[in-house]
Amino acid sequence: MNRRNFFNQAKLLSIPIISSTIAAPILMADHNIIIPNDSIGKILKDEKADIFLPGAYQKALKSLKYKLKMVQRHVGYGNFNILSFDDMLFIGRNYSKIGRFTKLELEFIESIFYYDPKVHGFFGDRITYSLTDKIYKKALHKVPRTGHYLYKGKTLHTYNQMKKDIGDSIILTSGVRSVVKQLKLFVDKLYSSKANLSLASRSIAPPAFTYHSIGDFDIGKKGFGYANFTSRFALTPEFKEMKKLKYIDMRYTVNNKDGVRYEPWHIKII
Ligand SMILES: [Zn+2]
Repeated sequence: MNRRNFFNQAKLLSIPIISSTIAAPILMADHNIIIPNDSIGKILKDEKADIFLPGAYQKALKSLKYKLKMVQRHVGYGNFNILSFDDMLFIGRNYSKIGRFTKLELEFIESIFYYDPKVHGFFGDRITYSLTDKIYKKALHKVPRTGHYLYKGKTLHTYNQMKKDIGDSIILTSGVRSVVKQLKLFVDKLYSSKANLSLASRSIAPPAFTYHSIGDFDIGKKGFGYANFTSRFALTPEFKEMKKLKYIDMRYTVNNKDGVRYEPWHIKII
C-alpha cells in the first residue's frame, strides 16, 4: 500500500470516538493504525482513543530525530530556527556525517506536513501550505542573546512594548520557526510520546500548523528555564503583569478549540 495514503486512510476511519464497550485492542486490518493494549484503560476513561503513528513511519522516527539534531548542530541553533526544507536536504546530502534523508524519512515528512491532524484530535488551522516555503532573513530581526528571530512589524513592536511595560525580566523563548524547526520539535515530541500522535499534538503543533511561522512568539521569565513551558509560568509576576496589558492576547487558553494544552506563554499576534 502506498504510504502516502496512511493519513488519508486514518481520516476515513474516523477512529477518535470509541464507545466504552471496547474490551480488546484495536488492530486495523492493514496494520497501519494500532491502538495498543496499554491504552485501553485510557480509552475507557476518556471515551476516546489516542492515535499512533503508522508502524512503517515509527521505524523512521529515530533516524529522522537523529538527522535533524545533526543538521541543527551543523547550522547552529539560531540558523536552524529559520532553516528551509531545501537547505535541510542540501546539508544532509553534502555532509557525510549526517547523510542523505532516506525515501522513508522523506515520505514521513511529507505525510506529517500534508495530512489532516484532526484525525488525532488536533483542530488548529493550517498555516503553511508548502513544505518548501522559505523564510527571508530581511523580514526578520534577530533578538540578541536569545537565538531567536521575530518578524519585523507588529510582532517585533509587540515584543518591544512588552519589554517596556513588564521589564527586562521577560525573555523571548521562541520566535519564528520554519517548517524544519517545527518538524524537529514535533518529531522529538512524537519520539518521547512513544509515537502517540494525539499526545504529541496536544503540546506541539504538527509542522504546517504553527502560528510561530507567521508571527506568534513565546515569552518567559529570565532564569525560569524549562518551567517557562509549564503552567507554572502563569504563577509568575511577569505573567500577572502581562495579563494587564490590553494589547496582549493568548493563543492557547484553557480548553481552547484547537485541542492544544493551556499555554500561558504563547502570544497571539496574527
Ligand atoms: Zn508557542
